[in-house]
This record gives sequence, structure tokens and C-alpha cells, in this order.
Amino acid sequence: MKTKIEPSFRESVDLMFNRAVALMELSPGLEEKIRVCNATYTVRFGVRLRGQIHTFTGYRSVHSEHMEPVKGGIRYSLAVHQDEVEALAALMTYKCALVEAPFGGSKGGLRVDPRAWEEHELEQITRRFAYELIKRDLINPAQNVPAPDMGTGEREMAWIADQYKRMNTTDINYRACVTGKPINAGGIQGRVEATGRGVQYALHEFFRHPEDVQAAHLSGGLDGKRVIVQGLGNVGYHAAKFLREEDGCKIIAIIEHDGGLMNEAGLDVEAVRNWITRHGGVKGYPDATYIPEGARCLEEVCDILVPAAMEGVINIGNAERIKAPLIIEAANGPITAGADDILRQKGTVIIPDMYANAGGVTVSYFEWVKNLSHIRFGRIGRRQEEGRHQLLVNELDRLNHGIGDAWELSPDFKQKYLRGAGELELVRSGLDDTMRSAYQAMREVWHSRQDVTDLRTAAYLVSISRVAASYRAMGL
Ligand code: GLU
Repeated sequence: MKTKIEPSFRESVDLMFNRAVALMELSPGLEEKIRVCNATYTVRFGVRLRGQIHTFTGYRSVHSEHMEPVKGGIRYSLAVHQDEVEALAALMTYKCALVEAPFGGSKGGLRVDPRAWEEHELEQITRRFAYELIKRDLINPAQNVPAPDMGTGEREMAWIADQYKRMNTTDINYRACVTGKPINAGGIQGRVEATGRGVQYALHEFFRHPEDVQAAHLSGGLDGKRVIVQGLGNVGYHAAKFLREEDGCKIIAIIEHDGGLMNEAGLDVEAVRNWITRHGGVKGYPDATYIPEGARCLEEVCDILVPAAMEGVINIGNAERIKAPLIIEAANGPITAGADDILRQKGTVIIPDMYANAGGVTVSYFEWVKNLSHIRFGRIGRRQEEGRHQLLVNELDRLNHGIGDAWELSPDFKQKYLRGAGELELVRSGLDDTMRSAYQAMREVWHSRQDVTDLRTAAYLVSISRVAASYRAMGL
């Protein structure tokens, strides 16, 4: 159980921030400027639904405008409140700086249970919320660009983009007002999988450094690693799926809102996901042991723990019992500041949220660029690239004939080599590159400074110094 001394989510983020800035030479004024949230707008609006007026409360918080537009998702949940939105907006600032997405940090939330409303009702609610934000430039391609978060997805983003267009009929860049849209409404290939894919790429990069793997008391690569995933939403599902299908990990437990599933032989992620879609939860899934108190599964022995649901799930109440030597924060803020202290003392290696889940905003950045450039990635160069590859293959064939067909190309070489990169390949390549560079920036600080003993502090140091450099360049 959580006790009273657990700080709030926002305080938790501030504590982690303070721990990092204590190791930096920032002027106190600048430190304060970076830490505080610039503004949080609260709106209460009524929508006539089912014969009566329902009032909804929504927020859009802007943490830092050292770069514009500011960026960050919109969350739909009954648990949304100002403190949470502000903590998430701050994390967006640090996340964008870490992965060099040229944005400030923002976040929005609407206090609503999306499952309690029909699709057409949710559309009305979303359009009304969007209207309130658009008229204050809190949704705008140049100033504030939302994206999906918990409880929202492509559908909501398409409504928001359309609402913006209705209110800004001559804005040729209207599609760039929001990211995470469906492909046919100006989205980009690979955005839905992006955060989960980023978690996978983050782990690939971590396992490229034997020293770091050793720090987590692990060895070898990802193949055969035993993984526990908490939350099989968009992020957890894709991360688990890729780790299992492409990297040979065994998903030994999946935790959902109604309990946990355990199977030492490994769970079939796709089958569990289908089960949840059909039955609303994991209970009753046949090929696993069902644990009603799901949070207990977080404490099981495994190699990698992937909290991919929401903030505060690893707190001072359970941190001591967490056995995973490596935790990758696929969600935002799943480990409280208090739990972080306990885990660091135990020697647990934590790959922090602002890095681990940055795949979403990275691909959002690509989508925004695509919308502003009005052309899909790969459209210009793809066939030219294929043509040049064809030239080389023809030449190889010619030389081979010349020596009496002495050698043979491996069967799928031609097919793979000849295919020019389309949008999905380019998005994945850009994401992979981003995750590698950001990890290397963090690990360099982690390993080169005696006073930095964990990746989170290293991540904050990298981010804060970049944000500080932007402010200094503006003359602050
Ligand atoms: N909501 C996601 C996050 O927390 C994505 C934000 C975005 O794409 O702007 O990072």
C-alpha cells in the first residue's frame, strides 16, 4: 500500500529534476524557469447528450516554450487532474530535448471515461474540447500540436484535425495541427506502433553495450530473456509483440486492469490481446495462470520488467519487493521518486521514461514534418534508389556470367537489395537512429561522471542542458 509520504506525480518529477540540477552549474533563476510549468489552461464545457447537459473538465498544460510548437498527447481518463497533466507536460519537455525533437513540452487531458460513451457522443465531446483549445491557439500547427495518449487514438486525432480545419479554412498546414492521425487523414506509416517499437529499439541499443548489460546483472542478448509486461494497451502490446516475435523474448507475465496472467513457457501476446478485446479483461484466458491481484506479478522474478500502463505503479509500497534487475519505463512516470531511490540502492537498472517511450513523439515529429512538406517520405527518391541498385545487380550478373556462373547470390539478396525504402522503412530507420543517439548521449554522461550513477539522472542532465542552451540563446 502507498503511504502518505509518497509525493504526487508532479512532485516526483520535480524531485528527479532537482536531483539532476544539483549536479549542474545552472543559475538558480534559470533552474526555476526550466522546472516550472509556464501555463495550464482549464476548461469546463457542457455538451448536450442523452437529453441533458453534461459538463466536462479538460486541461492543456504548457511546460516549456523554449521551442515551438509545444508537443504532447491528450489523455482521456477519469483520473485526469491538473497535477498529472503538469507532470506529463514537464516530461514531454525533457523527452523532446533528449531525442532532439524540436519542440517544447505540453500535455492535455479530459476527465472522461471513453468507454462510457458511444462513438458519436465521443466525437461531439472531442470536437467541443478541441474547439475550446483551438480558439486559444492551444491546438495550432505552429504553436501546440497534440497527439494520442491514454484513452485516445487515431480516431480522436482525425476529429481534432477536422475541427481545426473547419475553424481555419485557409490554413494550408492544417493537418500539422495534430499528430497520430490515420493514414488517410494525413498520418504517417508506423505511428501507431511507434512507442512500442521505440521500446524495442531502446532495448536493442542497451544490449549493444555489454558493460551496461552487466550493470543490470544480465548477460548475452535479448534472446530468451524473461519479460513481464504491465498494460497491454497500444504501447505494451506493440513492445511485447516485437520483443517476442522478433527478438525471442519470453513474455512470462502480462498484467491488466482486472488481474495478471502468468506462464513460464511464454504467453502468446496476440492471443491475449484478442482475448481482452472480446472479454474486456484477461480473466478466463485459457493458457495461463490467472492472478486476481495483478500488481503481485510485478514482483515476480524476471529479467526485464516493462511497466507500460500508467504512473505510480512502482511506488514505495512495492519497490522493495521488485526483483527485476532491469526495468524499462514504457509508460510515463511508472516509478515514483521514492521507489526510484529504493531501486537505485538495490542496483536495479532503470531505462527512464523520457527516453524509453520517446518513440511516439519521435514519429510524431516525422508526421508533422510530412504534413508541413505536403509529401510522403520516400516518394521522390525510392525508384531512383531501386534503379541504382538494379544497375549493380545487373553488373554482378554480367561479371558472374563472364566467369561461367561460378558463384551465386543468396536467394533473397536480390529481392531485399532491390527494394527501395518506402515510408514505413524510413520511419523505422529514423526512429532507430534517434533511439541509438539518445541512448549514447545518456550513457556517455552515466559512464563519464562519477557523480552520476543512473540513467535517469544522466537523461535529465542531457535534456536540461539542451533546454538551458536554448534559453541562453534567447538571451535568458
Ligand atoms: N503521448 C505520447 C507521449 O507521452 C506522444 C506525444 C506526441 O506524440 O506528441 O510521449
